[in-house]
Amino acid sequence: MSRFSLSGTARLLACSYWMNPAVPLVDTGSNAADGGTAVGAVAEAVIKGQRVVMPEDEKAYLFAQHVLAWLKEHRTTGMRAEVPFAWDVRDDTGRELPSKGQRDYSAAADTEVCGTADIVSMGVDEDGAFVWIADWKCHFGGDRVDARDQLAALALAACRTYGVPRAKCVALHVDERGVDDTSERYDLDAFDLDGVAVSIREALANAPSEPRSGPHCTQRFCGAIAACPKTQAGLVQLVPDVALVRKDWRYQPVIESPDHLAWMATVRPMLSKAMKQVDAAMAAYVKDGPVTTSTGDEVYQATRRMPRLNMGALEQLARDKGATDEEIASCFRTSVEPNGVRVSAAKRGRAA
Ligand code: SF4
Repeated sequence: MSRFSLSGTARLLACSYWMNPAVPLVDTGSNAADGGTAVGAVAEAVIKGQRVVMPEDEKAYLFAQHVLAWLKEHRTTGMRAEVPFAWDVRDDTGRELPSKGQRDYSAAADTEVCGTADIVSMGVDEDGAFVWIADWKCHFGGDRVDARDQLAALALAACRTYGVPRAKCVALHVDERGVDDTSERYDLDAFDLDGVAVSIREALANAPSEPRSGPHCTQRFCGAIAACPKTQAGLVQLVPDVALVRKDWRYQPVIESPDHLAWMATVRPMLSKAMKQVDAAMAAYVKDGPVTTSTGDEVYQATRRMPRLNMGALEQLARDKGATDEEIASCFRTSVEPNGVRVSAAKRGRAA
């Protein structure tokens, strides 16, 4: 069941088409995901009493500082970080999984599904013992989505592991303003946990669904997006027909030859441009306010508040405080980063 991890529970419950073994899954990764990993590593090091390495990325550094401040206030001696769990779908039992490294689930049995809790501890209140589960949610951009299903699935595995009937879960949302630990808190009793077990078990037992597209496709990071028939149906309208009938020219996540790669690199800018035009058309449609579809859904222009570092103001502040040109220059660094796959024309020699 390696396609599924407990952190993907919300996506599984919304659509299980991607569970089909024939559908290629692509882990696209992202700067945001890397930043989240770096911030999570800071929290893990603090909780495990290891050396803390702060992220280099400016925003991840700021987030890590918020995490350090939160842990200073809330860390308890019983907290454990990065705890891998396995939940047996057939027996409804749980265990901590021996793990060789981050997100290594190779020790899992065929009947087990796995997931890693960012922070776990045990607690007791007037109703008895409970497991406390927390998950960092770093917001480097994109939509903020709820973590309920993911937390509930991890809580199920943890409660079955420790033989505890209840869980308290919290999503720790981190952004430029700090750590929000109040907007998502869930108390799950034995009845709730049984319900979580049933819904995951049913979703895994049923044949993969037809693709059911929605916000979960992007917000829940579906690895099947490029191969999904819903995407392909949209591409038909953007890519010339000829490109979709010749196998060598298919726009797909599996690259089959250098010529296929070159074709993809040529077509991608065109798709990107087409998508920008689609974005502009959608924004224009809702610029005067939300519109309602025939099924009652509301479509609207979302916004988000993004604090930006004003480099000019920062440099001036540094100068006002007496920083020299050399000290200011030492704050800038140049890095070489991937900037798209390009095609250059072949160099052909002259005929003799
Ligand atoms: S892209 Fe969306 S519809 Fe397609 S498999 Fe993924 S979640 Fe399902």
